[in-house]
Amino acid sequence: MLTSTSIKRIHNFNAGPAALPLPVLEKAQSELLNFRNSGMSVMELSHRSALFESVLADAKNGLRTLLNVPDNYSILFLQGGASLQFSMVPLNLLIDGQSADYINTGVWSKKAISEVKKLGNYRVVASGEESKFTAIPDVTQIAIDSNASYVHVTSNNTIYGTQMKEFPNTGGVPLVADMSSDILSRRIEVDRFGLIYAGAQKNIGPSGVTLVIIRNDLLDRCPERVPTMLQYRTHANDNSMFNTPPTFAIYLVSLVTEWMLSNGGIDWVQSQTESRAARLYSAIDNSDIFYCPNEPASRSPMNVVFRSKVHDEALESRFVKEAEEKGMTGLKGHRSAGGLRASIYNAQTDEAVSALVDFISTFK
Ligand SMILES: *Cc1c(COP(=O)(O)O)cnc(C)c1O
Repeated sequence: MLTSTSIKRIHNFNAGPAALPLPVLEKAQSELLNFRNSGMSVMELSHRSALFESVLADAKNGLRTLLNVPDNYSILFLQGGASLQFSMVPLNLLIDGQSADYINTGVWSKKAISEVKKLGNYRVVASGEESKFTAIPDVTQIAIDSNASYVHVTSNNTIYGTQMKEFPNTGGVPLVADMSSDILSRRIEVDRFGLIYAGAQKNIGPSGVTLVIIRNDLLDRCPERVPTMLQYRTHANDNSMFNTPPTFAIYLVSLVTEWMLSNGGIDWVQSQTESRAARLYSAIDNSDIFYCPNEPASRSPMNVVFRSKVHDEALESRFVKEAEEKGMTGLKGHRSAGGLRASIYNAQTDEAVSALVDFISTFK
């Protein structure tokens, strides 16, 4: 059998789907053909079996422990990606005759806004557009509509490489956050949010499952006219098993949470994240060739965006190509932002970051 010692793993800086922890992949491999003596793989189990129920419970409990999720919140595993949440949030939470407040910090915020636009009234109460999304607007000063149904933010901007460090104070208005690209990378106070959502494929597992954490009182808000599959309460009432859930993806989420907990939990992840990001930004700031376009106070510790100082696209392409030759992949910036981007999510390795730091410092 092939083992990790005989396989050369690449330094993977992909933005999503992204690197998974090697111990998680190895455990999944070791259990693939005969999951806990069932004689079959997790993928072949009935989702109604006690064995799969224990997998789902492990994933939920792991997330609840890591994020310190209070008892009055439900943890749901849905499908349709974070992109479906752009519509499910307004379908479930936007009250007839009211409006929702959105903060626009980049491409994914705009996509969320384009969905609420189809469904009801909204306001954009702060935007990073003026800074070309190189900075997060000061959200401590914004005037929230106290009658808004909710306030929507994107906590980390995967494409521009910025992160909201402080969340707005919304009083009694539920705060909804798209945390697709920084969930589990830092300590958050879940009770400040009405709803948190995240596609799993950046920080918590493979693609195919979307995490939703929702305060239970908000489950009742959804009008009955909304299709059953699109109501949060359907999935809360059926423990995410109203229909067949993405069983293998949920299993991998359970392994990722187990891996984090066994290493020291969120504090461990956060300290790794901060030190990797600091090393990478420092290499970029000290480079004669590259710079980071984003304001230091808004920089993301997950998606490190950099460019050639003279915006020389040929030079950036050569950097990507030579990095590939050195065993580093995924460094091309998003097609809508250009430049370069290194995604260093929770499962990134110190070795990969060291290799990139070296390469940035020696590239000619
Ligand atoms: C990747 C990403 C999405 C889209 O996720 P899908 O699961 O592909 O729908 C949404 N928001 C943010 C912040 C993302 O990084």
